[in-house]
Amino acid sequence: MRLPKIRELREALTSFFTPPYTTKFPAVPDTWSGSYRGLPKYDGEACVGCGACVQVCPSGAIEQSDDRERKVRTLSVDYGSCIQCGQCQEHCITGKGIVNTTAYSLAVADVRAPEMREAVEKELTVCEACGAVIGCRDHLRWVMDRLGARAYAHPNFILLTQARLTDVAPARPKSRFRREDQMMVVCAKCRQKIVTADEFRLDHAVVKPLEITKITEGGVMLTVKNILEDKGVTVWTTTSEAKVFDALKTMADKGVGALVVVDKGKIAGLLSERDYARKVVLHGKTSPKTPVREIMTSPVFCVKFMTTAQECMALMTEKHIRHLPVVEEDKLVGLVSIGDVVKSVISEHQITINHLQDYIVGKYL
Ligand code: SF4
Ligand code: SF4
Repeated sequence: MRLPKIRELREALTSFFTPPYTTKFPAVPDTWSGSYRGLPKYDGEACVGCGACVQVCPSGAIEQSDDRERKVRTLSVDYGSCIQCGQCQEHCITGKGIVNTTAYSLAVADVRAPEMREAVEKELTVCEACGAVIGCRDHLRWVMDRLGARAYAHPNFILLTQARLTDVAPARPKSRFRREDQMMVVCAKCRQKIVTADEFRLDHAVVKPLEITKITEGGVMLTVKNILEDKGVTVWTTTSEAKVFDALKTMADKGVGALVVVDKGKIAGLLSERDYARKVVLHGKTSPKTPVREIMTSPVFCVKFMTTAQECMALMTEKHIRHLPVVEEDKLVGLVSIGDVVKSVISEHQITINHLQDYIVGKYL
């Protein structure tokens, strides 16, 4: 056994006659009146349920869960993960929805014990049309109070004000939206659908991809994005050095009439059946020996998601072309053909005809 050193013996003797070096850990939960930042606690009145504290909590100790059936949002702090940094209090939009108390974080035997969680429940407002969460009722009121008179520009806020005065029954589900549905609590997406349906008398299936459908005074204009949603975004490509024979084989295998020619990620041209018919045999060439670059059409006219079917049609007619690659942020994302464009223009006309028929037979209120 190793014998203690003189210094160690001296320290052991000294410790018998001096007070302890550390302070006592409290045996029971206690608060300290000094400037100590302890466990955070919610104030159910001051918290409006915005969820900002969830976003800023660096340790992920705060969780948010929305129960759309019960229309309740629960925000809860897991004390086992909380590092008492104070960010939640610092960034709380009301300044007092959650406050770091001076309560100590005590060691516990079971981290799942109820005292290891702090929670608050807030009433949720959900869309009466689709059930999407709009926000907590108190949060909407908080926003409304800050907007002042400007809040009355929005039906949701008008209904919220009415609800403060009297009970407002939620709207009953209907087979289709009607004009009066503009005055119900709805999310931005459903409100847009309701307004459009009211304005243009359209079936919802038609207005579904609203964010990419151009609405004009004359009705709906379908865009390239609508076309691609319908036909898919798969594009078959080849390279300018590939042989025409191989490219034709790809076209036959995939059942397409054109390939986009891509070199090093950039569109170099377009190869169609028409190019083959006009530029190979008639020029004394053979497809197994001819590279694609010799017969491809270049340069290529491209379109974007928001280009309308009518604009595609005009471009194709003017330039005598039958295919338009779709490019977004320098990336090839699709290919539309004259057939796709014609189909879309016919759909647009059908919508206009339905619209006029409704107008003539007096379906408009
Ligand atoms: S004190 Fe810090 S770690 Fe604890 S809940 Fe608030 S933000 Fe999260
Ligand atoms: S009001 Fe404050 S405590 Fe309540 S959810 Fe928003 S940020 Fe969190």
